[in-house]
Amino acid sequence: MQVVVAGAGPVGLMVAAELALAGVEVKVVDRSPHRSPVCRGFTLNARSLELLDRRGLADRFLAEGPTVPYAMFADPDRPLDLTAMDTDHPCLLGIAQTRVEELLEERLAALGVPVAWGHEVVGLVQDGDGVDVAVRSGGRRTKWRAQYLVGCDGSRSTVRKHAGIGFPGTEATAFGLLADVELADPATLLPGRSEGERGSVFVIPRPGHVRIVLDEPTPPPDRDQPVRLDYFQHLLNQALGRPVALREPRWLTRFSDAARQADHYVVGRVMLAGDAAHIHPPAGAVGVNAALADAVNLGWKLAATVRGHAPEGLLASYHQERHPAGARVLRTTRAQTLLARRDPRLAPPRDLFTELIGLAPVGTYLTELITGLDTRYDPKVPGTHPWLGRLTPNLELTIGDEHTSIAELLTPGRPVLLHHGSHTLPEGWANNVDTYRVHCPAHPELQGLLIRPDGHTAWISTTPDPQSTVTLATALATWFGPPDQGAADRRR
Ligand SMILES: Cc1cc2nc3c(=O)[nH]c(=O)nc-3n(C[C@H](O)[C@H](O)[C@H](O)COP(=O)(O)OP(=O)(O)OC[C@H]3O[C@@H](n4cnc5c(N)ncnc54)[C@H](O)[C@@H]3O)c2cc1C
Repeated sequence: MQVVVAGAGPVGLMVAAELALAGVEVKVVDRSPHRSPVCRGFTLNARSLELLDRRGLADRFLAEGPTVPYAMFADPDRPLDLTAMDTDHPCLLGIAQTRVEELLEERLAALGVPVAWGHEVVGLVQDGDGVDVAVRSGGRRTKWRAQYLVGCDGSRSTVRKHAGIGFPGTEATAFGLLADVELADPATLLPGRSEGERGSVFVIPRPGHVRIVLDEPTPPPDRDQPVRLDYFQHLLNQALGRPVALREPRWLTRFSDAARQADHYVVGRVMLAGDAAHIHPPAGAVGVNAALADAVNLGWKLAATVRGHAPEGLLASYHQERHPAGARVLRTTRAQTLLARRDPRLAPPRDLFTELIGLAPVGTYLTELITGLDTRYDPKVPGTHPWLGRLTPNLELTIGDEHTSIAELLTPGRPVLLHHGSHTLPEGWANNVDTYRVHCPAHPELQGLLIRPDGHTAWISTTPDPQSTVTLATALATWFGPPDQGAADRRR
């Protein structure tokens, strides 16, 4: 077997789909007997929609729920305007995480990979050639041999522990409770934030019920202890200083502001992604989005490695790129959690922040930060163009008489080289890179553009000079391996 993916949450499903798209043999296992009906998150942000768009999937997800043109940063009373962002999707999509997972599982199945539910990874031993993965299913323990193992098994990752990967970070200092319930009388608690005598409560309308979030002043010694409705009801009444009757509990849970990050995302033949690699406070609702970004970064790199055409260090670049991105998510979510606290000692920075958030450039900075649209990976080639290292905008293009777009050309999940005909192109990359001669009406100055499968710009040229061609050759060698000598160019 080429790759085993442990965990069929959003990141496991997306990594597996990326691998399958690239023709890699992949097995996905999940210890649960079936998909959990519990819906943790219910938003996809602009960057996730951009990434899904580059696989031809965004419309399928957008059809599932409403979009809103704003997002929260610490203060629900001052939403950030998303419409100023430079993206095709300046919005937040309301979609249940369970539905995201179902759609990704459907895609994976369409690519020929079923999820093996009821299979738990319980151990691993890796050597220079592969990984022995111990899997328990139906009371039986078996050993599978895989070339690579990807741990997408959530915050308490078994893969992380057995691979000996550290998970340093900050302990929980504050706890919150969440309840998906019905209000006996909907008029007693309105959506949004309600300030009470002894605390604040946040209410999010959901289909057929509400999600109520509040602080837990004194958590029990055993923080894994289940949260009971009567306990939640008591704390809700206490915070508001009045009774609000709840009924029909669907899900009650406790969360904290703990923030941790794996110190290595790649150790030998084992990789981590999603919550297995990073946990953070739920502020800003970014977990699924960060997980999808990990998956799309890892997928093509691992696929190229398995298929034997990865340049040296490509897999390691997954850690080099996504670890800093994860660290930013930890920092941003922790900052929001602190700013949202009622602690009077935090009033000065909160007041200052309230002033700052009203400034348009600050708003734009924060929206790009929380959506990850500002993510820039080191392109490893010289250049100052603002797109270099960032997600290439979804440009409209023409190839001959045909209209197309960047997103459409990236749908197969392969690297794309666009040129205007004026560049001398390095020979021998046809097997690894899809090359097109295009015209871009919105940017006639563009001479050439090299885009990684995850949509990030690896090289860009606005001048057909010889140095630019040298830089292109470097970018091709850096990301897509040694040239495939003798291969016939497949150019349109
Ligand atoms: C209360 C709450 C609210 C949230 N709200 C949002 C939100 O609005 N928006 C957002 O983007 N994110 C939100 N998140 C975060 C989001 O839910 C997670 O970040 C996301 O689920 C991470 O996806 P994942 O695939 O990494 O892990 P998970 O979704 O946890 O999936 C891990 C999978 O691995 C399986 N598994 C575990 N151990 C093993 C094993 N040993 N072998 C095989 N399988 C195993 C599990 O059964 C599970 O299916 C929220 C989280 C919480 C707790």
